[in-house]
Amino acid sequence: MKTQLAIWAGKTAGTLSQIMGYGGSTIPGVVARKLDGKFLRHLRKNARSIIYITGTNGKTTTANLITHLLESSGKTVIANREGSNMVTGISATMVRNAPIIGWMMNDVAVLEVDEASLPKAVLECPPDYLILTNFFRDQLDRYGEIDILIQKMKDCLKSINVKLILNADDPFVHRFSDLRKEMIYVGLSANACRFHSYNMGESKYCPNCQRELSYSYIHFGQLGHYYCSCGFQRPQPTISAEKVFQGKKGIHLILDGEKYPTTLMGKYNAYNAIFAISVCKALGMESKAIRKGLMSYQKADGRMQEFSIGNETWKLNLVKNPAGGNVTLAEFFQSKEKKQLIFCLNDLLADGEDISWIWDIDMELANQEEVEVFIASGKRAYDVALRLKYAGIDEKKIIILTNLKQAVLYAKRMGFPAYIMATYTCLSPLVTTLTGEEEMLKKGDGYFGTFTIPFLPRHFKPLRGQRKYYLLKEAVRMEGNLSSYRRNQEP
Ligand SMILES: [Zn+2]
Repeated sequence: MKTQLAIWAGKTAGTLSQIMGYGGSTIPGVVARKLDGKFLRHLRKNARSIIYITGTNGKTTTANLITHLLESSGKTVIANREGSNMVTGISATMVRNAPIIGWMMNDVAVLEVDEASLPKAVLECPPDYLILTNFFRDQLDRYGEIDILIQKMKDCLKSINVKLILNADDPFVHRFSDLRKEMIYVGLSANACRFHSYNMGESKYCPNCQRELSYSYIHFGQLGHYYCSCGFQRPQPTISAEKVFQGKKGIHLILDGEKYPTTLMGKYNAYNAIFAISVCKALGMESKAIRKGLMSYQKADGRMQEFSIGNETWKLNLVKNPAGGNVTLAEFFQSKEKKQLIFCLNDLLADGEDISWIWDIDMELANQEEVEVFIASGKRAYDVALRLKYAGIDEKKIIILTNLKQAVLYAKRMGFPAYIMATYTCLSPLVTTLTGEEEMLKKGDGYFGTFTIPFLPRHFKPLRGQRKYYLLKEAVRMEGNLSSYRRNQEP
């Protein structure tokens, strides 16, 4: 009964906060936990399988992909799609999905979990499967050292019965092997594909003997085929991609001789795809169904998202740490076309308040002839500009526009495709602006802009997922004409 009350209160609080325009994706969780501290434990009994995904990079894409694959095979899935991956966010997801009366009965819960929140989440709601993607230096202001973090994560797993799905290519992740659980290793064969190489990451040393690790093959960062004279070495993967190549619509993977085409752009997504494939196989999904699901997957906003602006294809990718920044640059510079690079950096809580990580990105990679303009944008645009300058980029090419919309409009006037890397809180305004620009070009002068209705209740199903509406000229009466409005908006 207590749990039921907590759920009702959580749901009510969530709806109220939406009506008042606060959004507040974790509020239902915060309220429910206040009323019943054990409510996750109670809800836990009702999902048949719980999958956690944690690690520095690739959590959201892997979680979204697994959710899509399972749903496409007819399973009912709970997922924290909004990426609210701390314990309150997970609680909020559970509250939202719980029925008004009775217990929820779902096949699978797919939950992205923040690394630092894992011990608490495991204690309250132990998973059946845990996917560990990789560990790169990430938001040290929140975590402290990687080694301490890994030890805490390992400790919390000791006493529970869980199947681990581990990245064999990451020596950090391999440290979880000594937990002696049931394990599935995934990895990429040597020469499966060529990633743009950059400076080695932070895991150069053997966790057993502290000697420097040797590599027979490096994919990127510290990921690769590593070994040490003491015997610590990359385990033989259970599932490994022999080949990864970039097709027109996405990457293709060859696993055990079977081809898996996907809609994911960027070769570094190969790991995310293999994680998703391996957990779905473990849950009994057939290869054929997995293949079909991979082809119908639509990626989340801001993940190598493409926009058609005039005759150009613009690209937008989320960046939140040096490793992510480096793979993004490597992807961006696969094509040698004339381009402009936009780096949008905010320092709000969700982005990580410490932005010193931008100094660990190899921005020197971006110092290429084909880049005509570098635009530094976001709240910390000046820091970006300074970083670019220290990467040896000609000052005359660097433009500072803190306002994201102005940065987009400036780039649009240049007439080259723009490649945009952006931190978390820049994504949503950028996607809105870019979709607006796309629509404006498609619809001509009648188009005014997009807006989102802030208080549409989540349970109003017919309109769910369609929260963007387009205002046409005929529909709005405005003072003055639209072109003067637009002129005023430009820098
Ligand atoms: Zn060693």
